[in-house]
Amino acid sequence: MIPHSFPQAIEDQIDRTLAKPTRIHKIPCKSSSPLWVKREDELSSGISGGKLRKYASLIPYLKKNEINTVGMVGGPNSNNLVGLAQLLRENGIRPVAFVREAADKQLRGNALLLQMLLHETELQFIQRSEWNSVEAIARKSLQTYEERRFHTHLLTEGCFSFQAMIGTLSLAEDILRNEQDVGQTFNRIYMDCGTGLSAIGLILGLEHLLKHALGKREVVVTLIAETESGFAAKLQEMRERLEDTCPQSSDRNITVRFLKPHLSPRFGSINKALFEECVEIARNTGLIMDPTYSVKHYATALRDHAECEHRRETALFVFNGSALGTSGFQDMLARSASSR
Ligand SMILES: *Cc1c(COP(=O)(O)O)cnc(C)c1O
Repeated sequence: MIPHSFPQAIEDQIDRTLAKPTRIHKIPCKSSSPLWVKREDELSSGISGGKLRKYASLIPYLKKNEINTVGMVGGPNSNNLVGLAQLLRENGIRPVAFVREAADKQLRGNALLLQMLLHETELQFIQRSEWNSVEAIARKSLQTYEERRFHTHLLTEGCFSFQAMIGTLSLAEDILRNEQDVGQTFNRIYMDCGTGLSAIGLILGLEHLLKHALGKREVVVTLIAETESGFAAKLQEMRERLEDTCPQSSDRNITVRFLKPHLSPRFGSINKALFEECVEIARNTGLIMDPTYSVKHYATALRDHAECEHRRETALFVFNGSALGTSGFQDMLARSASSR
């Protein structure tokens, strides 16, 4: 029996071969309160963390609407562009990427992977000075495909949309399945945040599935690339849209708390301490984490977990990234690994 599940209207929109179950296990850490990790990195070998959950509802939506050409926008190191390009290709949908011109001209990491996945005509670089009007540029370019009778669709940066949020609800469900399997309740769940969509899906999923459940639950969001007020507004917008789709009211039984990363806090910024931490984490836990999100998220969560020790709660850290995310940083990591 599945104890917690979504209404059919939602279930019908999720491709379950993509939104798969992932395992959890304990992290060896010094705190006397246990810390577990959810291995969202194992959802896919080439797509970063929970992104596959977004695509699990996005791809069916595109297919249902007979879209065969998809415009996507993002930075040169975007995990989303690389992940989406793989899945669109697999489904015979043409990706057309509008990519912010890179400051680093070397072809490595995600910039390299994206170039491997796309034909020259499918990749358009946008100058930094023009980046504000990227959507207008993309729309104009997609119009030329429409004129040749292709069915096009333009996705927002990071795939932030209601359609993609539906798939991210599956993370909440899978965590509750994990809890049943191991006989534990996670009172505190650490989640990272880029656009915030995955964290929003987790919160709304828990709100929905735990409607009449007792006990306090807290989702702690590490704001890698959002502000607290920005996140709150997006959460409320998605909550209202979800209530429109499935009108059962959901209790607000989930507390949301925010953390700012303390290591190299500006989004996309890197420094020596970050790479040293990346090596430290690998040696202490066996987890190979991407510096852009997961290392910052883990260092922040671990500090908070230690500060919450007196609460004697079991916590879950969502590893929402991938080892592949280290590939753009080999030189820096080599320096940190060999000097320690
Ligand atoms: C994309 C990504 C995120 C952010 O996901 P959002 O749903 O946009 O908040 C977090 N971590 C990693 C590693 C990612 O690739």
